[in-house]
Amino acid sequence: MIEQAAQILKTGGLVAFPTETVYGLGANGLDAQACKKIYEAKGRPSDNPLILHIAQLDALSEIVREIPDTAKKLIDAFWPGPLTLIFPKADIVPDAVTGGLDTVAVRFPSHPVAMALIQAAGLPIAAPSANASGKPSPTRASHVAYDLDGRVDMILDGGAAEWGLESTIVDVSQNPPMILRPGAITKEMMEPFVGTIAIDPAILDKPTEGLRPKAPGMKYTHYSPKADVYLVRGIQTIEAINRLAAQQQAQGKKVGVLATEESKAKYQADIVLSVGSRADLESVGANLFRVLRKFDFLEADVVYAEVFPLEGEGLAIMNRLQKSAGYRYIEADSV
Ligand code: AMP
Ligand code: MG
Repeated sequence: MIEQAAQILKTGGLVAFPTETVYGLGANGLDAQACKKIYEAKGRPSDNPLILHIAQLDALSEIVREIPDTAKKLIDAFWPGPLTLIFPKADIVPDAVTGGLDTVAVRFPSHPVAMALIQAAGLPIAAPSANASGKPSPTRASHVAYDLDGRVDMILDGGAAEWGLESTIVDVSQNPPMILRPGAITKEMMEPFVGTIAIDPAILDKPTEGLRPKAPGMKYTHYSPKADVYLVRGIQTIEAINRLAAQQQAQGKKVGVLATEESKAKYQADIVLSVGSRADLESVGANLFRVLRKFDFLEADVVYAEVFPLEGEGLAIMNRLQKSAGYRYIEADSV
C-alpha cells in the first residue's frame, strides 16, 4: 500500500493520508503541477498556501534558506509532532506551494503511516487538510472519502486522528516568534524552550481589514456545518440553550446541541452530541470536527454550542468553534 501510494506521489498524483492532527491531501511538494491538483480537488483559494511535510531533518535545509535558533530549539523539543514552522523559502519550492509568499510552512509529522509514506516517496510532500474547502477538517478516512471521492488517486486509512485539530503554526522568522494558528502544542508548552511567544491577535477575533491574520488561510470561513451554529456563553448556559431550543423547535427547526460529557444529560433538543469532557480538553479537540460533521449528517438546522476557555488547550478549540459559528455569540443572560 505505502509503496503504491509513494509511486502515485512520485508520478504527480494525489494521496490522502493520516497524520496525528487531521488527514492530509498530499502531492509532490516540488512539482507545481501536482500541487495545483490539490487546490482543484479541494476547491481551495490559490492564495492559501500549503504545508510541506518531511520525514527526516536533513530534508529541511533543502527547502528553507535559513534555520533560526528559535526554530532549532522548537524542532528539538517538538518534532516529529503537531507543530508547523514558517521559514524563508528556498528557490526550489514552487509558488504553487507558498501562494507566492517568500516563506514556506514545514512540518515533520509523527504518525507512522505519514512518516512511512514521505520516506518511501523521498520527497517533501505538500499537504493541506484533506477536506473540501470550507468544511471541517477530516479526522477519519471516511470523512475524506465523503468530501473528495473521485478527486484523489488514493486514500490511506490510518483510523481516527489522535489530536483531531490542525497543527500549531509558529512564525520563527520574527522575534519574538508568533503563533499564527493555535493547536495541540500550546504557547505555555513552547515558552520554556524559547522565551516569550506572541499570538497573532487576529486569531482570537473575527478577521477584518484592520485585523488581517498572518496565516492567509485563517481569514477564510472554515469548519462550517450546514446548520447555523451559535456559541452560548455566560452563567446558566444550559437553561438558556434549552429555552432557545424550545423556541426553534416551535418554529419547526431541527435543533442540535454541542454538549460535553458533564452536561449532555441536561439538554432537551433533537440532537445532543457530547464533544468530550471539560476535564480533558484533548478529548474535545479530538472529537470536535467529527461532531460538527455529524450535525450535518443528522440534518440539524440550528446548533447551539457550549464554549471553552480562550487559553491553553482551549484556544485551539475556540479558534475552530468561533469560525464554525461565524463568530456569532449569544449571551445566556439575555435569553
Ligand atoms: P491546512 O493544512 O489545510 O490547515 O492549511 C495550511 C495552513 O498553513 C493555512 O492556514 C495556511 O494559511 C498556513 N500557511 C501555509 N504556508 C504559510 C506561510 N508561508 N505563512 C503563513 N501561513 C502559512
Ligand atoms: Mg485546512
